[in-house]
Amino acid sequence: MDPALGPPDAMAEKRDELTPMMRQYHDLCARYDDALVLFQVGDFYETFCGAAERTARLLEVTLTSREDSTGEYPMTGIPVDNAESYIEELLEAGYRVAVADQIEEPGESPGVVERAVTRVITPGTLTEDELLASDDNNFVAALASAEGAERTLALALLDVSTGDFLATSSTSSEAIADEVSRFAPSEAVVAPDASGDPLPEDCMVTPFDPDAFALERATETVSTYFGEPDALLAGDAEIRACGALLEYAEYARGGTSENEDTTDEEVERADRDAGRLEYLTHLTRYDPREYLLLDAVALRSLELFEPRAVRAREDATLVGVLDETASALGGRALRDWIRRPLLEPDRIEARLDAVEELTGSVQTREHLHELLRDVYDLERLIGRISRERANARDLRSLRDTLAVVPEIRDRLADADCERLRGLRDELDPLADVRGLIDDAVVSDPPIEITEGGIVAEGYDANLDELRGTARDGKQWIDDLEACERERTGIDSLKVGYNSVHGYYIEVTNPNLDAVPENYQRRQTLKNSERFVTPALKEREDEIVGAEERADELEYELFCDVRSEVADEVERVQALADALATVDALVSLATVAAQYDYCRPEIAERDGDEAIDGLEIDIEGGRHPVVERTQESFVPNGADLSPERRLAVITGPNMSGKSTYMRQVAQIVLLAQVGSFVPAESARISPVDRIFTRVGASDDIAGGRSTFMVEMDELATILREADERSLVLLDEVGRGTSTADGLAIAQAITEHLHDEVGATTLFATHHHPLTELAEELPAAFTLHFEVEQREGEVVFHHEIAPGAATGSYGVEVAPAAGVPEDVVERSRELVAENADEPAIDESDPRADPQGRADEPRVPASTDGGCQGLPDDVAAELRELELAHLTPVEALTELDRLQRLLEE
Ligand code: ADP
Ligand code: MG
Repeated sequence: MDPALGPPDAMAEKRDELTPMMRQYHDLCARYDDALVLFQVGDFYETFCGAAERTARLLEVTLTSREDSTGEYPMTGIPVDNAESYIEELLEAGYRVAVADQIEEPGESPGVVERAVTRVITPGTLTEDELLASDDNNFVAALASAEGAERTLALALLDVSTGDFLATSSTSSEAIADEVSRFAPSEAVVAPDASGDPLPEDCMVTPFDPDAFALERATETVSTYFGEPDALLAGDAEIRACGALLEYAEYARGGTSENEDTTDEEVERADRDAGRLEYLTHLTRYDPREYLLLDAVALRSLELFEPRAVRAREDATLVGVLDETASALGGRALRDWIRRPLLEPDRIEARLDAVEELTGSVQTREHLHELLRDVYDLERLIGRISRERANARDLRSLRDTLAVVPEIRDRLADADCERLRGLRDELDPLADVRGLIDDAVVSDPPIEITEGGIVAEGYDANLDELRGTARDGKQWIDDLEACERERTGIDSLKVGYNSVHGYYIEVTNPNLDAVPENYQRRQTLKNSERFVTPALKEREDEIVGAEERADELEYELFCDVRSEVADEVERVQALADALATVDALVSLATVAAQYDYCRPEIAERDGDEAIDGLEIDIEGGRHPVVERTQESFVPNGADLSPERRLAVITGPNMSGKSTYMRQVAQIVLLAQVGSFVPAESARISPVDRIFTRVGASDDIAGGRSTFMVEMDELATILREADERSLVLLDEVGRGTSTADGLAIAQAITEHLHDEVGATTLFATHHHPLTELAEELPAAFTLHFEVEQREGEVVFHHEIAPGAATGSYGVEVAPAAGVPEDVVERSRELVAENADEPAIDESDPRADPQGRADEPRVPASTDGGCQGLPDDVAAELRELELAHLTPVEALTELDRLQRLLEE
């Protein structure tokens, strides 16, 4: 066990002898034994013993020690005021952090200051703005299964900072893995009987109370939030996942400290009520099949959120080119749309209508954008308000946002399309909430909520009276100086204040004779004496008393206002939703107008019965990302239909094949997001699923060879694609010897064409594939030509019908600086081999990734089996060829080959 976690041995041995404070630390560590406990002692969060040694090293802070009557303990401290950056480092190092705050003022009650874990910070349950990306969600996931005829796996996803809560399930664990890739949760809890396989490596798996997944308990948990779970969720697995996830979120919120008089069960219940997250008001159940399916490979190769090339600019992604949102709310909404493109033509058209209308008016669009910049992150704001972590400034931020809502509504007053009209109606300016905050909270309140200065004059009569008393008292004191000077005739007499002695009257030594009877000596200084009078002390007590009571009352009033606002959580969330949608739509319209996109026509889907393939007709299409960086981008069309559904694309390296294929997929995807598309015109039938097998998406980091990755991805495509899938194959079959590669490529082409019927774009160097394409009725060929001009190779990046001719590699070679005699010899060889299948693999400028990935074939050792190490030979002999599929055989061979390389 990690020595940083759990109660330190040095303390556990003698718990009962520890000082009360150290006992408190020990007990909190025992209670939160899977988290690193940060223990507030005044202005510092302290850790002791093993935890201190670990944090000192990790955070590069000084290791000291604390000594008391029971011993000496290693100790570190980090300042409470800027703990956030330290906590971030602890999270990155894989720790969960339990923050134990002092929950009473020192001296408030006898004995040791009470402390409680007010929050457990974990990567997936962050709510601190400082630790979160503003324009993206941060999800924690739960996986649970249910026994049945078919084993169902459920996935629940929760963003604790915003309250977004989703659930889905499937009998296919791959389908769940795809959903996980979409939402990229940073942390997950997994039911004891479920597998964590669908989770990617960078997702932290957190051990959590297995009982929380028990169906009965999960049912109860879900119903306390959302009512009868059966009405909301599909099946036990989903209930179990959601219930456990809710409990985990409550746990992360922290609870009250353990009280020795209560039983564990009572503590647990009390904690659970205290941890209830009122702002979790919606749970959305969805079916993965409601959205365009994108697995991890497709997400990566289509560069939705992350650039593929390591050195690419960070914004060289689809979201990078589409995001012109003004608010964090809009940024997150847009990401969700891109993550989950739609299938339903009606829903797509509704968004397109709105985008079109907004595209039409620059003025409206720009004004809306300006207004939306003043919109705070309402989702996180109301979450904080509801969790009682908001200060007065947060309330003012809410109020300031509400203040722009009427203007946004006005801007949408003449909206024509249904979507925008609907949004206008949903934009509830929450006048009551705004009025409450305006009345109650001053316009520029301090950060602290316990030190007064928050509540506005006129809001509460008692408060005003207390303030009046304090003010009158101060006025009396202000007047005192003049008064006493006159009475005593001492011109240098001064009234002052210090925090130890309070108010005093100061008289310099030469004037001491003139001091009246009723002055009482308080303090003697070098040149003067300080006095008080009973009347002055009385006033002072009055002022201090009134001020203290005013601060307390202000705090109470503030908490009341905050909880009154918190009661409106659902209305605030609905408003946030509407604002987010407007922002995302304005963003799409802005991009459409600025970059000359067109509205795609959405081809109606035939009834589910008669699915008969896809229609994708694009004229003058551009790659949305590449066109932003490329000086002159050459537009290219695409014309795909059930009768022309498989295109074999040839052309030399660098001619534009990969770009073209991705551009077609991205245009389709954009259309399904409800965005305009970079093209002159586009007619698109919604695609159910996009598959990609793109050359450079090598899983080298994952430790698998290129060839295995390729086979794996291909197997998925062949198994799962259908007539409504769009398949991109980029140079499949390169990771193996040419003859095998060609064989595989041909077999795949035939299978996709004859059996699967998917719409396919296949870029290849294998020219015989073009001949195959001519034979298959629904296949055709496309190519990119290059031109030789005065020894220079000119890329036109223009797609044309038919197959590429010639052996480009050799022709491109001189341009790349290959010596003339080598080129000449290459030409001879090409001529000699003219009868053999022409394989265009010779381009020296071939993309470096592709080359580097060719598996190294070990130099052949003569003598065959004799030359093999015994273990490999034995394994080879035992292979039961009759019982292996070709892919399994290849897999085995690949493994053995790698054994030899070791
Ligand atoms: P291939 O896959 O045939 O090797 P790529 O698609 O990778 O070629 O394109 C190579 C480069 O050519 C791209 O990085 C891009 O800079 C440029 N390019 C590709 N298509 C176009 C186009 N239509 N217009 C302008 N430049 C393009
Ligand atoms: Mg390529």
